[in-house]
Amino acid sequence: MAQSNLQPYPLRTYPLSLRQMTEEELAVVFAMTSRRPEPFDEIAQIVTAEKAEKFHERWVLGYGHASVAEHAVLHMAVENLSRLSADTLEDNRLSSYTEKSSRYQLFSRDYYHVPSELDTRVELRNMFKETCDHLFATYEKLISGVSAFLKGERTRRENETDKTYGFRLRREAIDSCRFILPAATLTNIGMTINARSLEHAISKLLSSSTNEEKDLGNALKEKGMEITPTLIKYAEYNDYMAAAFTQGKNFPDEETVETKWPIDAKLINYDVDAERKVVAALLYRHSNLGYERALFNSTNMSDDDRRKLLMDNLGSLGPHDTPGRELEMVDYTFEMTMDYGAFREFKRHRMQSYISQPFSPNLGIFTPPLITGSNLESTFRSAIAKAEEGYYQLATELSHVAPYLLTHAHRRRLITKINLRECYHLFKLRTQRQAHFSLRQVMDKALRLVVGVHPELFRHLSLRDIPDWWPYRTDSES
Ligand SMILES: Cc1cc2nc3c(=O)[nH]c(=O)nc-3n(C[C@H](O)[C@H](O)[C@H](O)COP(=O)(O)OP(=O)(O)OC[C@H]3O[C@@H](n4cnc5c(N)ncnc54)[C@H](O)[C@@H]3O)c2cc1C
Repeated sequence: MAQSNLQPYPLRTYPLSLRQMTEEELAVVFAMTSRRPEPFDEIAQIVTAEKAEKFHERWVLGYGHASVAEHAVLHMAVENLSRLSADTLEDNRLSSYTEKSSRYQLFSRDYYHVPSELDTRVELRNMFKETCDHLFATYEKLISGVSAFLKGERTRRENETDKTYGFRLRREAIDSCRFILPAATLTNIGMTINARSLEHAISKLLSSSTNEEKDLGNALKEKGMEITPTLIKYAEYNDYMAAAFTQGKNFPDEETVETKWPIDAKLINYDVDAERKVVAALLYRHSNLGYERALFNSTNMSDDDRRKLLMDNLGSLGPHDTPGRELEMVDYTFEMTMDYGAFREFKRHRMQSYISQPFSPNLGIFTPPLITGSNLESTFRSAIAKAEEGYYQLATELSHVAPYLLTHAHRRRLITKINLRECYHLFKLRTQRQAHFSLRQVMDKALRLVVGVHPELFRHLSLRDIPDWWPYRTDSES
């Protein structure tokens, strides 16, 4: 025990749950430490639900001290939401999500959302359902076809039971066949979110153009208010957010004919002074130099000295270590094109700033090699054609509903700005063997590009699975 009773103010750490306090009461106890001298557990004795409500009304809602709302945390279970709406829900980076995996689970034929916009449009609704039914039937057909193909390709491992062998093949098959599932496919999401973020998330949903997202916004508000009755009660539709859903619809669609965008990752922008900036930040942290002086010193170092300093700092990074904030001083902007399945995983990385374009069939599709290898490409492509036909039927009148019919094979394009520190995390995770194989391709390309421009800054990235082209291979890895 490092601390002793000799300290006039000994370190105390404890969970603040002395009695059954509500999330709003807890938030007030923490907030009150700003002005009150007592320890938290004493403050807790005087906070009641009524006091908490008044406090939040006055300070959080009245004076805009929104950070207090971050101490109220909600665990929300969201079930049977389309993947399209899940994207909007997960587009709140200060929250935590766990979502049902389409890689490890098999979905039944009716596991899709039918937009209520179609309730009064019988023909379109029938067409929508028919298209989804066809996509799900194709999904099943592809799984059995690919599994049969794999039986001839994958030998049984030593001591592998029938069940395990079958399970392994099925999982590999699912990984490729799930590309045919539409964006209307349902999912479940467990979300841990603080009340400040939730208020923002609800406003965004209420400002959406789809009924499903508006319904979700209303449900989150209603159920969320059972936990935090005051903090999210003014979450409303917002004109500015609503405009974000509709803007751009008037811009010309110049690239409709460019159906096969050839490059998966393009490095749009990077800092030519990156190495000097990272080293300057390291010098700054470990000295009392002003920043300009640190940058000057870094600039005037020899390349060898700069690299030695990088080695001293990053050379001891273990496989599970996170590099320091100095790496956040530089960032990279990429334009990436990836299938919707990969996009759904990529956008979950919260330390990036990504901006994606509207989901449409314009950029073509990704065809998983196993589908081609199993001689099922024509089945796959004819289901894609049906999905696109449905998309175009909806697009003229209900453009916000049309993307529900696009599949996980359809491509999406985005720009993203990622700092070097997040690059270390992202590339390690998404170039490993277990990563989604099409996302892995894009990440491999992006990594190649940054290694090409900043070889010294990526030298210390210890990848879990090292690609053939990796320039820093040691003899033991070759
Ligand atoms: C092979 C694989 C399979 C996966 N399968 C699933 C799945 O089935 N279902 C599923 O829901 N997810 C799954 N995930 C995880 C999910 O995709 C991650 O949430 C996503 O990759 C974001 O990455 P991240 O959480 O590591 O960190 P990022 O969002 O990239 O953030 C970078 C780092 O910042 C820190 N950080 C960011 N936000 C927080 C926070 N709120 N609290 C604390 N620290 C934070 C962490 O140190 C984190 O490593 C899978 C990931 C991989 C690689």
